[in-house]
Amino acid sequence: MNCCYCPRRCGVDRRESEGFCGATERVEVAAICRHLGEEPPLRGEKGICNVFFAHCNMRCLFCQNQEISRAKVADEKVRYRGVDEVVEGIAKMLPECENIVGFVSATQYAYAIPQIVERLHERGIYPTTVYNTNGYESIETLREIEPYVDVYLPDMKYMDEALGRRYSGTKDYPNVAMAAIEEMVRQKGSRLMCDERGLAFRGVVIRHLVLPGQVENSKRVIDWVAERLPWNTQLSLMAQYYPVGVNMPDELGRNLSKEEYEEVVKYMDEKGLTNGWVQEMEANETYRPDFSSDSVF
Ligand code: SF4
Repeated sequence: MNCCYCPRRCGVDRRESEGFCGATERVEVAAICRHLGEEPPLRGEKGICNVFFAHCNMRCLFCQNQEISRAKVADEKVRYRGVDEVVEGIAKMLPECENIVGFVSATQYAYAIPQIVERLHERGIYPTTVYNTNGYESIETLREIEPYVDVYLPDMKYMDEALGRRYSGTKDYPNVAMAAIEEMVRQKGSRLMCDERGLAFRGVVIRHLVLPGQVENSKRVIDWVAERLPWNTQLSLMAQYYPVGVNMPDELGRNLSKEEYEEVVKYMDEKGLTNGWVQEMEANETYRPDFSSDSVF
């Protein structure tokens, strides 16, 4: 397996060594838990069953999941190893949730998504599947998982390439993420389709986290969604930034201000993106994961 599963195209044989993301051939998952923090059509009343994969193909300085997203993840943070354990974990947790499974940051294990979904089907379990991603995806991989994903939930983090380099160690983020999201929209359509209970079963929701001091970047993301994607594309504008980690640049060392967020919300409205979601400013207190706890949130 010479890994080219994401745009980094490390080409390493993951049976023998690790690439940028730090993942080996064996799937590693830090948590499988019920989560009530996603957008309403993705969580319903009972919550989504989220599967938090270990490692990541980006290095965001402000990553809220740093405990599990780095190249080196402590052994005790990995609770499920291999496809069998992951399937078992989902089967156990799903009855407590809506019939929706979220694969969170699964890019480095995208090859395992078909296996996981097929094993669930073999057990008579047919959930809606949500592929929750940082947006740094290759088109080839998205085409491989197309039959196994119902809803894409990608980030669109940056339109400014220099920010992607500085904050996430990713040299070509805007072009790669734009192409990936356009492929997701081609596969599933721009409109989020929901059942009679308002639960999503097909479509795309784009997320954008507003960063302190980076209002212009957020406006450029909105411009792209409004001008280049279909009119009914749903954008979820997040305010939940809080400073985490070490070696943060000074400008990221504070919370997002109310004024900054409101300016971006107003711009989104002016651009006609009115069928998405915005957050309360208190969201940065609410969504703080703790991967030492069974419930995580
Ligand atoms: S998934 Fe990991 S090993 Fe594979 S190309 Fe991406 S960063 Fe490299």
